[in-house]
Amino acid sequence: ESFTDMGLHQSIMKDISFHEYTRPTSIQAQAMPVGLSGRDLLGCAETGSGKTAAFAITMIQHCLAQPPVRRGDGPLALVLAPTRELAQQIEKEVKAFSRSLESFRTAIVVGGTNISEQRSELRAGVNIVVATPGRFIHHLQEGNTSLSRISFVVLDEADRMLDMGFEPQIREVMQNLPQKHQTLLFSATMPMEIEALAQEYLNNPVQVKV
Ligand code: AMP
Repeated sequence: ESFTDMGLHQSIMKDISFHEYTRPTSIQAQAMPVGLSGRDLLGCAETGSGKTAAFAITMIQHCLAQPPVRRGDGPLALVLAPTRELAQQIEKEVKAFSRSLESFRTAIVVGGTNISEQRSELRAGVNIVVATPGRFIHHLQEGNTSLSRISFVVLDEADRMLDMGFEPQIREVMQNLPQKHQTLLFSATMPMEIEALAQEYLNNPVQVKV
């Protein structure tokens, strides 16, 4: 398995070679074909496995197949992560694999940072939002963003998000998404609560484990 066989957009391929990622990691080789086929995914993977690039690249490729985002439009894809640090790391990687794409925008929406800057970024229209659950819900409630165009969702480190008490916020998002959407859920551990969440919100997911 190689990145070349995955049918990725040439700009993404360019950014992959720039990173000198010569071969997909195990989670990338397993998860990317599933994600790119449009199916839901339940991924058991830890930090260090290369899971971030796996979902970031899949998500960018998904967004390229959607109509363009204009001012005032809601995002096409959303990543929820437990902490500001993780969200920042994810956003960095999303930017790294979309840097060759023209007018492709990403916003980071986390607590403890400038909210008015986030507000105007969201209102301007972005392809992808990387967020912590509490702050994302805050912007939804303020009307700065919407779920109406989201067709791709990543729940990263879902076990940690539940540990931190974000289950109500995750449910709030998942219950109000447009009917047609794809979900990728990553978790280092698979306790009953995660299985229940997956059972409830994932549609016939493919399970991968590294
Ligand atoms: P993650 O598990 O997403 O936190 O990624 C762990 C590290 O692996 C990051 O520093 C990535 O830059 C790196 N990485 C991800 N995919 C690859 C790859 N295919 N080849 C080499 N390094 C990679």
